[in-house]
Amino acid sequence: MEIITKDLGYIYHPRTPFAKRVLTDVNIRIKANRLVAVVGQTGSGKSTLIQHFNGLLKPSEGYVQVGPHKLEAGQKKIPILHESVGLVFQYPEHQLFAETVEKDIAFGPKNLGWPEELINLRVRQVLDKIGLAPSYLSRSPFELSGGEKRRVAIAGVLVMQPDILILDEPTAGLDPEGQQQILEMMVRWKQERGKTVILVTHQMDHVAEYADEVVVMEAGRVKWQTTPLALFTQYTEQLRQLGLEIPSLIELVQELNQRLKEPIPLTSTKKE
Ligand code: ADP
Repeated sequence: MEIITKDLGYIYHPRTPFAKRVLTDVNIRIKANRLVAVVGQTGSGKSTLIQHFNGLLKPSEGYVQVGPHKLEAGQKKIPILHESVGLVFQYPEHQLFAETVEKDIAFGPKNLGWPEELINLRVRQVLDKIGLAPSYLSRSPFELSGGEKRRVAIAGVLVMQPDILILDEPTAGLDPEGQQQILEMMVRWKQERGKTVILVTHQMDHVAEYADEVVVMEAGRVKWQTTPLALFTQYTEQLRQLGLEIPSLIELVQELNQRLKEPIPLTSTKKE
């Protein structure tokens, strides 16, 4: 499924003394089967933007088109797209609550009244996708490690099989191994299901390694939508000015190189 925004604007608390414009003239297109990173300084509007993609926030101006659904400013009733768009908030493990992993993951489908057998099947499939053994189903989510808790919380969204999966800083606060597991899970999700993944992150090494495209936000506007290669090679100075960390040159070349059909050799093959 594809997402298009047209002249999207958003104002918190409009027509009150607390009115605050957070998005202005956002025009982006996120095609299916891509992993798209959204980056920008804290406060640049990333979280506000992604909450428009499943109808949690209603545009103040313009519209968002999510597959067949148009979410438009002034529209009376905006549908919330629970099933086709999965949104994973920051620190999703704070929302774990059930006494077992199985019950936690099954909560959404149960609420939607899915048949029992389908729920059982999907919960087991998704457990495999997040790389946990079936023995985890009967465990309490509160006994798990930080990385495992986070994966279980994400599984609660994946179990709905959303066409578009949006994750807000999913690797924050995890050790490198925990981060790696989440990133690999994201890539598997995109490949196996042929779906779209939107990743809000400040980790530019993750952008270089995993993103097909990147949207750079600055003060509520889209500064660029481009490829990581173009971003890191053409806009290096501007990125620094935006205060965004840039991966070291060697890391960058290695990561970008993996994507080329004929990688550029990193060591000289010339004989002395
Ligand atoms: P980011 O995800 O890039 O850090 P956010 O979308 O969270 O940016 O925030 C953008 C701006 O909107 C910030 O200045 C923030 O303080 C403001 N903001 C976020 N949520 C609210 C809210 N509920 N009410 C008023 N202002 C908000």
